[in-house]
Amino acid sequence: MRKNYLHLDFKGISPFAPHWPTYLKHFQSLGFDGLLLELDCKYAWESWPGAALDHYTKQDVLAMIDLAKASGFEVSLLIQVQGHLEWALKHDRYAPLRESGFINELCPCNPDAVKKVEDWIDEAVALCPDAPYLHLGGDEVWHLCTCDACQKRGEGAADRKMAVYLDHVGRCCRRVVGHGMRPMVWSDMFVSRKCYEPIKTLPRETIIVNWCYHEKAPFAGLKEMQGTGYEIWGAPAIRCGWGPDHLSGIYDENGVAARVANIKEWQQTGINLINTVWGRPSSFNVLYPPYHCFAEAFAAAGTDGASWRIDGDDAFAVQSRRWRELETEYDRLLRKGVLLFKWSVGLNRVARYIGRRPGLFNADCYKQSEALAKDVEALRKKLFDFFTDNGLSDAEEFIDERISMLTPPLEEPENPALERSEIL
Ligand SMILES: [Zn+2]
Repeated sequence: MRKNYLHLDFKGISPFAPHWPTYLKHFQSLGFDGLLLELDCKYAWESWPGAALDHYTKQDVLAMIDLAKASGFEVSLLIQVQGHLEWALKHDRYAPLRESGFINELCPCNPDAVKKVEDWIDEAVALCPDAPYLHLGGDEVWHLCTCDACQKRGEGAADRKMAVYLDHVGRCCRRVVGHGMRPMVWSDMFVSRKCYEPIKTLPRETIIVNWCYHEKAPFAGLKEMQGTGYEIWGAPAIRCGWGPDHLSGIYDENGVAARVANIKEWQQTGINLINTVWGRPSSFNVLYPPYHCFAEAFAAAGTDGASWRIDGDDAFAVQSRRWRELETEYDRLLRKGVLLFKWSVGLNRVARYIGRRPGLFNADCYKQSEALAKDVEALRKKLFDFFTDNGLSDAEEFIDERISMLTPPLEEPENPALERSEIL
């Protein structure tokens, strides 16, 4: 039977430790058998002093891992050995480790950076010592081989960038193998270059995880990677990729449907899967809504999830319906805000041609805008209550982000003071 892992990226909205058992129970009931935890910036790694947010303590993480194991999950961790280290490298104290000054990547030719990653691997192993795997990330290394030292390191190689990449990632994989674990690496540095033979330079124990969130099967590079003889896993996404074109407040029906379709495509391959749940589109991007927003996608990804229904009476279903109600209210207020903005523009254009009627802007725009602000504040409180009741992090940021989008400012008339008239 194929393995069916759930990846949780904690840089986004995530459960506080006391609420972890509730979520774990739900994930278990859906039929996930493994967890891949990406603690990212939410855990104070000893290897990265001063870089993380104060969210999970060591005791929290150990208890969360222990409970997951006791509930029958395999548990492994995910760290990043080269790219996507913004959360740490953005701090001045780690600036010397950056590749060509870019804050998302470290330079694999900098001995201090290599030492840092090796220490981090050791720390992750010690944190979850009987994990079967340690995922090393290795994806989207966009600035690979741009500094002089890396250029020099790659000299003479047919593919200089790949040579530098493999030198570093291979060394990290071997360190993981040395700890008795199997390393995992994301696939995209191979897929994006259509370059698969170099995989064979990695230790035989390495697993390549082929993530693909938007295309249909057959997935790019999957057959070629399987042809290397290495173990290849697939990765759909339960929560990913909301750009500005798709951001629709706190729920996106079409977005969730796209996730379900992506998951079903991957399930047809029959290979082991890691169902990814990303925290934000990228480290400096907006937060995704809570897990409840993606309830159907979680269920579609679970081996036993087909029987889960959002109109059921389990706690997760009840809270998911509550989220839908908040979304309906959010959507109503969003439309109202846009309408008021448009109305203010309309009245100001009328004034240019035929003048103003005293009090009209006040009645149609200012007064209604004040009423809207009251409704928005009521929603803000309901959102906070939802986060509190469900033990979710990042309430302040998420609510600030989304509430601020609700009320586009009115276009002010030429003389706002005069428009305040109560006389119509
Ligand atoms: Zn470099």
